[in-house]
Amino acid sequence: MKFYTEYVKNKINNDNITIVAATKYFTPEEMITLHSSGITHFGENRTEAFTEKFNALKDFDITWHFIGTLQTKKVKKVVNDIDYLHSLYTFKLAEEINRRRTSPLKCFIQINISNEESKHGLNIEDVIPFLKQLKPLNMIKVVGLMGMAELTSNEEIISNEFQKLNDLQIKIKEELHQDLPELSIGMSNDYLIALKHNATFLRLGSVLFKKEVE
Ligand SMILES: *Cc1c(COP(=O)(O)O)cnc(C)c1O
Repeated sequence: MKFYTEYVKNKINNDNITIVAATKYFTPEEMITLHSSGITHFGENRTEAFTEKFNALKDFDITWHFIGTLQTKKVKKVVNDIDYLHSLYTFKLAEEINRRRTSPLKCFIQINISNEESKHGLNIEDVIPFLKQLKPLNMIKVVGLMGMAELTSNEEIISNEFQKLNDLQIKIKEELHQDLPELSIGMSNDYLIALKHNATFLRLGSVLFKKEVE
């Protein structure tokens, strides 16, 4: 597999943006190639695949993200191996992490910003109550918000969805005096739009090996 890491980095043109490679597309061997091309953050969706890849790449300097929905019953398998969780949106999951994790885990609150029924995440209006509820959980360190825009070629729709998170960041600051500067938005289809909405973490898959997504 050939990777276009340089090409993508040039497009992003900002060293403060973290590329998290979505590893669901890759074997451990391909991840090693990707790592040598300059990617050091990896994000997996499934706990079984995570463990396999984590063990295979133990000797590499990697920051590990979990980007898929994490089932409460599977928390113990991965929770002390990951550096970031991008998909926190239930209190039940937060409690289980809090019980099992041995140091504070950096978490993104996943928010449903598209109108697609199937997307996971909290509704916008439930985020502030959720953040209040998380306060006593010492092992949960909320660093930011995560969202997935609708899969569409309509830039205005995507832009409006990302803007919801920018507005929410301001509201959280005003109401809770909590600064959540990190934003995990932007995938292969929409990462350039995400950058205009202050993305700090891009979760990229296809664009790393396809150059342009058709
Ligand atoms: C697969 C995946 C991505 C990356 O997908 P591409 O569109 O291929 O860039 C990002 N986030 C999550 C949660 C994913 O599952």
